[in-house]
Amino acid sequence: MTTTTVQLPWTQAELPKRQFMIGAGSTAVGLAAAKLARAEEDKTWDLIVVGAGAAGIPAAIFAAQRGAKVLLIEASAQLGGTLHLSTGQMSAAGTKIQKQKGIVDTPQEHFDDVWRISKGTVNPDLVKLAVFNAAEAYDWLMDNGFEMIEGHPVKGRAHEPYSQNRYYWGIEEGISIVKVLEKLAKPLIDNGRITFLARHEAKELIVTNGAVTGVIAQGENGKASRNMGKFVLLASGGYAANPAMFEKLTGCKQYARMSYPYSQGQGITMGLAVGGYLRGKEQYLCNFGGIMAADEPQSTVIGRFTTYPERRQPWEIYVNVAGKRFVQEDIPSVDKREHALLAQPDFRYWIVFDDEIFKAAPNPIEGWDRAKYEAAFTSEPMFFKAATLEELAAKAGVDGAGLTASVASYNQGQASGKDALGRTHMPKAIVKAPFYAVRVQGYSITSTAGLAVNKDLQVIRADGSTIRGLYAAGELLGTAQLMGSAFCGGMNVMPAITYGKILGQRMIPLTA
Ligand SMILES: Cc1cc2nc3c(=O)[nH]c(=O)nc-3n(C[C@H](O)[C@H](O)[C@H](O)COP(=O)(O)OP(=O)(O)OC[C@H]3O[C@@H](n4cnc5c(N)ncnc54)[C@H](O)[C@@H]3O)c2cc1C
Repeated sequence: MTTTTVQLPWTQAELPKRQFMIGAGSTAVGLAAAKLARAEEDKTWDLIVVGAGAAGIPAAIFAAQRGAKVLLIEASAQLGGTLHLSTGQMSAAGTKIQKQKGIVDTPQEHFDDVWRISKGTVNPDLVKLAVFNAAEAYDWLMDNGFEMIEGHPVKGRAHEPYSQNRYYWGIEEGISIVKVLEKLAKPLIDNGRITFLARHEAKELIVTNGAVTGVIAQGENGKASRNMGKFVLLASGGYAANPAMFEKLTGCKQYARMSYPYSQGQGITMGLAVGGYLRGKEQYLCNFGGIMAADEPQSTVIGRFTTYPERRQPWEIYVNVAGKRFVQEDIPSVDKREHALLAQPDFRYWIVFDDEIFKAAPNPIEGWDRAKYEAAFTSEPMFFKAATLEELAAKAGVDGAGLTASVASYNQGQASGKDALGRTHMPKAIVKAPFYAVRVQGYSITSTAGLAVNKDLQVIRADGSTIRGLYAAGELLGTAQLMGSAFCGGMNVMPAITYGKILGQRMIPLTA
């Protein structure tokens, strides 16, 4: 029997820039096997789960409940992963709560909605696996104390709405889910059914005769251990907090610093190193944006101009760097707005208006009072004010001739009631100085590309063959598999939990 460790593909220069929560012992992703200290003993687990997030915890719980000896390796000190930051919105059809409320819904209708919203760009096998098992997973959360917001489920409006009320979230957002998962996992950790190896980063997969048979993990003290297992589940999340990897895998910058700091893409790197391949790279989509604190990638979002017409009809116009309008500002479809922005340089636009609109329009920034809004034009780098449109354009970094022409054309349409882009809500022309602009940046907080798996969630090679012993679930699969080039509400968290549950419960042949 030959046992080898596998070198990782990223170079030293591409290593993630560590952030505030990353453990002190976190060093290179590509540690040479020779440099790894040997653990005192090799252990054999029935299942090794890498990552204690929405996918990993249910897998560990259900496998342990089946009698398996489970090792749960987690880079941070806590259970929950991205759920600590996530809104935790979930979608599931056919749940008990829907039935109680008289909502008639089926997984097939859920699938059809995802297909419609994504315009057929999802992986149908994986979506089916998720939505046809989602109700059971959601009911499991509810049965174990998940506290849902009253009045849910809803259709949802932050993304393209569902056709049926099947969208749920907790009173404390993602934390409501963490509480349930913790409650279920902790007794199994306490009684030793799950060994929780916290503050340990999985570094490399061990391959034996072509099958994955273990994981090399490194603790904060730098000491490495070889952990042997019959099966390994990679559930270590995405790469959205790793700007270098984000740029490499999506071809665009990571503009926002909003993702879980441990989302460094190490699981993807490990999967690639043993022969896996990536899917979904070309399906990147940014949201319709936020106002950044600074003009640099990995900036924080300080506020959001309300661009949902159902919440606040637009009084302003939106222009790109050429000063040109690129979307009908009051178009009801959020997906259409997002795809229009996706076609703009740097996924960036400027919201432009004049003094009359500034004074008359409803407060545009969610959670900001008037004083904060007004002050932003003197203190925040993404807010601009000028005596003329040309001066505004120069300050904001927009083409002056383009902006002047766009405003003239908009004003003409406003006067005649016939807008060039079909907009109908046009309460005022843009004529009175001073003029204003707010720069908005589109971004994504999740990882579009991910490891390819088959419909049994086994990691596969580009030729379709399975890498024996290796499974994957959660954001590590890439959001494109389940949402395609769209944002489908709740289609990260719910599938992650669902996959974790069914892998631990039945899909991984733990008795083999
Ligand atoms: C602000 C925000 C809001 C969101 N809102 C929603 C929403 O409303 N609905 C929705 O569906 N999705 C949402 N998402 C996305 C969703 O929350 C995530 O996709 C999902 O929680 C990911 O679960 P996961 O288990 O795959 O990964 P994670 O939850 O990221 O868990 C992975 C775990 O692995 C650990 N880990 C990483 N590398 C290693 C390593 N080398 N060794 C050991 N452990 C490691 C991490 O510390 C982490 O605990 C949101 C994301 C963000 C950032």
